[in-house]
Amino acid sequence: MPANHSDSNSTIVETRPINSLLIANRGEIACRIIRTAKRLGIRTIAIYSNADADAMHVHAADVAVCVGEALPAASYLNIAAVIDAAKQTGADAIHPGYGFLSENPEFVEACSEQNITFVGPDASAMRSMGLKDAAKALMEEAGVPVVPGFHGDNQDPEFLSRKADDIGYPVLIKARAGGGGKGMRKVDKPEEFVAMLEAAQREGGASFGDSTVLIEKYIEQPRHIEVQVFGDRHGRCVHLFERDCSLQRRHQKVIEEAPAPGMSDEVRRAMTDAAIRTAESINYVGAGTVEFIVDASGPLRTDGFWFMEMNTRLQVEHPVTEAITGFDLVEWQLMVAAGLPLPVKQADIKINGHSVEARLYAEDVEAGFLPATGTLHRFKLGDGGRIDTGVMQGDVVQPFYDPMLAKLISHASNRDDAFRRLQRMLKSSVVMGATTNRAFLAELCAHSGVRAGHVHTGLIETGMELTSKPDNQSVRISLDPTLALAAVVSANLSESQSESGVDPVDQHATVFSRLGLWQMWGVPGRHVELLVNQALLTMQVERRSSTQWRVTLESSDESDESLCLQLDSLDKLASGTPMGVDGRLVSAVGFIIGDSIYCLVDQNEARFNRPATEHADNADGAGDNVIAPMPGRIIAVNCAAGDSVSKGDVLITLEAMKMEHNLIASEDAEIQSIAVQIDDQVEQGMRLINFVDSTTT
Ligand code: ADP
Repeated sequence: MPANHSDSNSTIVETRPINSLLIANRGEIACRIIRTAKRLGIRTIAIYSNADADAMHVHAADVAVCVGEALPAASYLNIAAVIDAAKQTGADAIHPGYGFLSENPEFVEACSEQNITFVGPDASAMRSMGLKDAAKALMEEAGVPVVPGFHGDNQDPEFLSRKADDIGYPVLIKARAGGGGKGMRKVDKPEEFVAMLEAAQREGGASFGDSTVLIEKYIEQPRHIEVQVFGDRHGRCVHLFERDCSLQRRHQKVIEEAPAPGMSDEVRRAMTDAAIRTAESINYVGAGTVEFIVDASGPLRTDGFWFMEMNTRLQVEHPVTEAITGFDLVEWQLMVAAGLPLPVKQADIKINGHSVEARLYAEDVEAGFLPATGTLHRFKLGDGGRIDTGVMQGDVVQPFYDPMLAKLISHASNRDDAFRRLQRMLKSSVVMGATTNRAFLAELCAHSGVRAGHVHTGLIETGMELTSKPDNQSVRISLDPTLALAAVVSANLSESQSESGVDPVDQHATVFSRLGLWQMWGVPGRHVELLVNQALLTMQVERRSSTQWRVTLESSDESDESLCLQLDSLDKLASGTPMGVDGRLVSAVGFIIGDSIYCLVDQNEARFNRPATEHADNADGAGDNVIAPMPGRIIAVNCAAGDSVSKGDVLITLEAMKMEHNLIASEDAEIQSIAVQIDDQVEQGMRLINFVDSTTT
């Protein structure tokens, strides 16, 4: 595209070509930036931590430099190490991606001191938007609507409480330095105000070193709509329309789309004008996003949206904007950073169709979206759209970083088709070895409210009856083909073990190579026990012929269920083979890793544990110890060996996925030993505290 200088202002802008680029990030965003840089003929340099030595982004780049230990503070957040890597490799420029150092003005200054181009805005623009209260004050001056509330200096509790009365309940208290939903408290009535204020201040102080808060009117069931803006050093600032990111859990985005459903030309004009005013008021250069909270109680209105914050970087969800506009935003970032003008004028940017993105996370939806780890024994994402990922089959999901595995992005001429396509991509994706939100995302894509465009930020948490949500008490577990297949796999594992006397086998094929005894048994078969949602299931597996298996799930109320499986070859099961289920042909995969059995039948994957091993995964433990319910970092240890603790005491605080989780004593006990200290990274299932066994004292 030829650069158009005709409407640029008179300042002479120095151009600094970028021939080599260091990407100060990891995962999908590092891979995505490398892709564009390579297309533009730029030499790419990856950085990595010890835990990432074999990661996809390291292999994707031309050169890679290790910058430190696994914990982000020691590597991806270590300014000196990142700058050193850039100098060592002769990088002209650094792209920070999102997260990590992307919004750190000191990093921008460190780059400029070394004469390295930072691909992003100036440090001053970052600082203007860094604190929520100062940003809101600035926006009021620029004539951008802000959420009604108080964002002044006076932090006296009585004064703030009077302000909350003036604003009108419910109100939202926000730590001004907050991020990722931290330091935020909703208050419904005046009596609760002071306690909530103290909690928000404490969290702000502990997490961001700043306990100053602001108070906002709490908008009921709002939508989150943001505008992509782009400025260059030639005085041009354009927008690339809006994205709707209202589908959130724990104030974090799950599915994003562009354009926003129900958006009128008039409201779009008002919102994009406000976003441009925001960017221009701080002479913004590069890619930025202006986030608005929007009243979703009726149709969108020109007076029904308010500035929330501006993110001074590339967003996770930028691909939906790329899909509908046809532009590569990373290419634009590199052009602007090199001092070139934006390649197009506002009038050249048009909306083409509709795009939706889903964030595939390693997380346990049923356990309240807790992050998960694991090895990706099978990882194949569905066709039909764009996939941005940073992991491959065989990779281990690291506990140190954000557990997002991939972004799946669909694009179609209309919204309904875009959701349908995304749903198909999700349904045909296979991830085995780590629990993911894949099925939940597919369900969300089909949700009637979502499809009708009735999205709001509380939809997932309050407005959704998830069919995938288990209810251990009332839902009776039924025999489905994955469970039946697991029973067959388990029966054969037990057989080959008892025959050879070896430990559980950890390769796939060998398990099935010694089937001699089955032939001798004939019909009655073997009993198999498997754990599903902590319920122990007993099944009977009969081998009826060389290719036919009958699995019966035993039930206490005499309503046994059976399924007949037809499998030509058990040896091929590990890599995938057709299977008959009561005469219907499906595709099946089944294998054993350690003591877990992984099965996939059509698009349904499941993991089953053999009973002997389940106790190690049991988050609640047996009462004589405290076990990490998820991978995370220890941020507080409130007890010591020899202490007596009472039921309900908070013993340890674990930070996982930007959230704090308190581990609480389930009964009165005496502590024998503590296996961890502050800052330790722990794996799910790790024993953190041992109690003195009360039965022996
Ligand atoms: P953070 O910087 O911690 O992400 P934000 O200010 O961006 O915090 O808000 C995050 C989310 O919290 C929003 O997307 C929205 O869902 C909710 N939220 C923020 N402000 C309000 C408000 N005034 N009323 C209701 N919900 C809000």
